[in-house]
Amino acid sequence: MARSRERSNAHFQRAVRSLPLGVSSNFRYWGDRETLYVKRGEGARIFDLDDNEYIDYRLGYGPVILGHCHPEVDAAAREGQQVGTVFALSTEREAVVAELIHEMVPAAELVRFSNSGSEAVMAALRLARGVTGRDGYVILEGSYHGLFDAVMWQADVEGQADPSLEPELLPFGKGIPELVRQLLWHLPYNDAGPLEDVLRRHADRIAGVLIEPILGSCCGIPATREFFRAVRELCTRYGVLMIVDEVKTGFRVARGGAQELHGVRADICTLAKAMANGYPIAAIGGREDLLRHFGRGGVTHGGTYTAGCMPLAAAEKTLRILKDTPALDDVLGYGRSLQAGISRILSVRGIPHSFAGHPSMGGLFFRDSAPANYRDWKRSDYTFYDALAQHLIANGVMCEPDSREPWFVSAAHDRSCLEETLAVFEEAVDVTLLQLAAPRATAAL
Ligand code: PMP
Repeated sequence: MARSRERSNAHFQRAVRSLPLGVSSNFRYWGDRETLYVKRGEGARIFDLDDNEYIDYRLGYGPVILGHCHPEVDAAAREGQQVGTVFALSTEREAVVAELIHEMVPAAELVRFSNSGSEAVMAALRLARGVTGRDGYVILEGSYHGLFDAVMWQADVEGQADPSLEPELLPFGKGIPELVRQLLWHLPYNDAGPLEDVLRRHADRIAGVLIEPILGSCCGIPATREFFRAVRELCTRYGVLMIVDEVKTGFRVARGGAQELHGVRADICTLAKAMANGYPIAAIGGREDLLRHFGRGGVTHGGTYTAGCMPLAAAEKTLRILKDTPALDDVLGYGRSLQAGISRILSVRGIPHSFAGHPSMGGLFFRDSAPANYRDWKRSDYTFYDALAQHLIANGVMCEPDSREPWFVSAAHDRSCLEETLAVFEEAVDVTLLQLAAPRATAAL
């Protein structure tokens, strides 16, 4: 039976009068009649205003690593609330959480806190500039580092008339000053050649190379081990700082994030989402000699809400659970079973497919091999995914409607979620096959 969106639709009409597009983030608007409003979450499931239930593979774009409304984390947050909110002074727990982070992510010799991923990356870039005295920086195609001017640039692959030429670099949207473009080098992912070339010629103007170990907003395309290590080696060779943005991968793909998986140590890294199961807190970690520049070295960092008592307490509890329990093994195990199940369904039907990233945040592609970089993905055909995703969501499997976001898994996803997801997936694949075959069949008549 078709699910009702009556209440979400009615709420949209009200919300749009006081909120642009009726939402608080452009990405939450799915259309006037498609935008959903959440009533509540519980474990791996969410419920919308019409009481439709969904198995959630978006998890707020990744943070909810232990499941929605996790009782222990929420109890810890309430306990943190008893301390207060913010004091414009520090509390004891900051050092406790910094020590925990260092235990899990050894590159984070010292830590400073922020409220969001964007803020952490902003501070990391400022630190790199402050330490080196250089304003330039490198970002890699397909990366997402947050919503601040320095990183809101993308290669215009679609608008490129001649694929043999370099695509134009465009801002994400209006309001981003042209001047910013002069400070950045925007280079291909998984290709050390152009990076080496730029560093050889311009290292004296470049503070750091920002790298996402897995393109978490570009289908989970992972950096190959060779590329990740080459970036490390090139940064060291040319005296440029390696800033690893683990906002999505940190405390998710391994306790020590992608740095642990690849055996690579960042100079500076940013951590956020999985760190507090959704409570707003992030961290900038890195080499002691660099982090000491905050304050005495003249680099400014701070903020009214930094290290607020409630998110900090939630972070301590979440990190202890991730460190001391098999939660991440469960996440990985579920991710693997999900991919195996999906693969079985698609293989039986002879549908080419592949997965990218990591099973805890995996991208799904309908071709034999996953794209290796942004340009490859942009030029790929994602019609099947887009159509399939609509059927999945309409039937209670909340994946990302466009193929850019990977499927996130939490420790709360259990066997019943798996069985339900695969049953819905199988049906949705068949409906999608029919739907996409229909126009062709009609055209042939
Ligand atoms: N860096 C990465 C790798 C991210 O995935 C994100 C968010 N998706 C950010 C930075 C920005 O984080 P936030 O949305 O918390 O500002």
